[in-house]
Amino acid sequence: SYRSELGPYGIDPASVLEQARARFANHAPAIRRTLAAATPEECLVQRLWTVPRLGSYVSGRRVLIGDAAHAMMPTLGRGACESLVDAVT
Ligand SMILES: Cc1cc2nc3c(=O)[nH]c(=O)nc-3n(C[C@H](O)[C@H](O)[C@H](O)COP(=O)(O)OP(=O)(O)OC[C@H]3O[C@@H](n4cnc5c(N)ncnc54)[C@H](O)[C@@H]3O)c2cc1C
Repeated sequence: SYRSELGPYGIDPASVLEQARARFANHAPAIRRTLAAATPEECLVQRLWTVPRLGSYVSGRRVLIGDAAHAMMPTLGRGACESLVDAVT
């Protein structure tokens, strides 16, 4: 996943694929091969919403932690880890 100016509605998979190929042109060969082989018909394009960045996550005796404070991109696979770190902190 990556930040794009495309959308928010009626996102064209072919445009996304073209943008992704350009964006990841200098990445690992396996990534480039995968993007080169992909076709718009086989691609699922999904807009992801993120939570806004806040100045502070604390207000009086209340604190936001976990996904409520910082939703993670699905590709990161570490939202639960960060939530536990928040709780300990
Ligand atoms: C498909 C998928 C795969 C994932 N894989 C990973 C992974 O491999 N590794 C990793 O670290 N993270 C992973 N995550 C992310 C991880 O699950 C979340 O980041 C984590 O669960 C966030 O914890 P949380 O306590 O902040 O929120 P949640 O787990 O969403 O807990 C919020 C709780 O609040 C409850 N709630 C909501 N509204 C109210 C209300 N009004 N009153 C009372 N209760 C309410 C909800 O029912 C829920 O139980 C994955 C997430 C998904 C969806």
